[in-house]
Amino acid sequence: MATGFVRNLFIKRYLVIKEDGLTFRDMKLNIYPSQSFAKFLQKIAEKKSEEYLYKLGFEAGYDSSKIELENFGILKGNFPFKIETINLLLQVNGFGILDFKIYDPKNKKALGHITKNPVIEDGVKLFKSKSKVCSFFRGVYSAHAQLEFNLEGCQLTETRCVRNKDPYCEWSYGLKFEK
Ligand SMILES: [Zn+2]
Repeated sequence: MATGFVRNLFIKRYLVIKEDGLTFRDMKLNIYPSQSFAKFLQKIAEKKSEEYLYKLGFEAGYDSSKIELENFGILKGNFPFKIETINLLLQVNGFGILDFKIYDPKNKKALGHITKNPVIEDGVKLFKSKSKVCSFFRGVYSAHAQLEFNLEGCQLTETRCVRNKDPYCEWSYGLKFEK
């Protein structure tokens, strides 16, 4: 489905390759090799802390989310459509595939599985169980959850992770887990 979606974006000329790079509508996209991005994020976490990297991710997600909301009327659609659209936008940008298992904004509860994030995957290849890359994207997704998914005050926590050989990263909000 995602591949068809991306192809459609090119056909409808939402995604266009110009002389200075790729643009999504009028927004310029900066493509960065996932392996070097993983190394960059790992360095930040090692020099500062994983919590610092999470906060940095949150700031990055907050700003990009604001830009998306300002630019794209498509995000004003009805809710299932909106979730699908945001999800596909995240996929196009290489932020992985989000699969909501629990989505309950009224009771401030959510749980999702994230797969196919190329930077997280390269982080695991490079740093094995010591990869700290997920924290950045957990921050990014927390900001998107607050601004676009109506999950007020959402700070996601990680309960399963590909760096521990789980098949996906599991991020949740407002749920208690037995340790
Ligand atoms: Zn993870």
